Amino acid sequence: MKIVFATNNEYKLSEVRKISQDQLNILSLADINCHEDIPETGNTLKENALIKAQFVKDKFGFDCFADDTGLEVEALNNAPGIHSARFAGEQCDSEDNMRKLLNDLEGKTNRNAQFRTVIALLLENREYFFEGIITGEITQSKRGTNGFGYDPIFKPTGYDKTFGELSDDIKNSLSHRAIATQKLVVFLLQQKEKRLK
Ligand code: IMP
Repeated sequence: MKIVFATNNEYKLSEVRKISQDQLNILSLADINCHEDIPETGNTLKENALIKAQFVKDKFGFDCFADDTGLEVEALNNAPGIHSARFAGEQCDSEDNMRKLLNDLEGKTNRNAQFRTVIALLLENREYFFEGIITGEITQSKRGTNGFGYDPIFKPTGYDKTFGELSDDIKNSLSHRAIATQKLVVFLLQQKEKRLK
């Protein structure tokens, strides 16, 4: 089964290949010579994931899946959500985003938050969605240097450490993306099994 993952993020590619134990033939955007910046014009994670998968299907004809992730903070009406990557502005980096989030939460006692990933899959002209959520809270300040994005200020429920302090292996075993990816891989392997019957 040949399927495109609409990403060029090596980290995400190796994660999905690892979870599928290389039983699926997953191609990246570079593998199909797609070097365009796919616009993310949706209003939800689901819409954005579908837009990316649809772009590849329409232009290249491959079955495809794509993901979109956001950090949803309860006291901020689920912001930054779809704007997580550019929360502090177009030119900002993760440091700016974390600073803005900590500022916005100053004085607030409710620090509940969750990371949510949605994967959209287009397979034989049908749409499927897979979701992964990890709940936790936003710390008062940055802790740890592992991971990326908001990891140093996100402490998953049941842990004393932030994602920035936890090892990659632990984070990857419980993350939002890992949960969604697991669901996708189980589904794809079932489909592959059915085709072989
Ligand atoms: P993307 O949809 O995977 O590109 O994620 C959008 C943004 O959400 C990223 O630019 C990060 O700021 C944030 N983000 C996504 N996943 C994680 C994570 O695992 N840890 C910390 N931040 C993340």
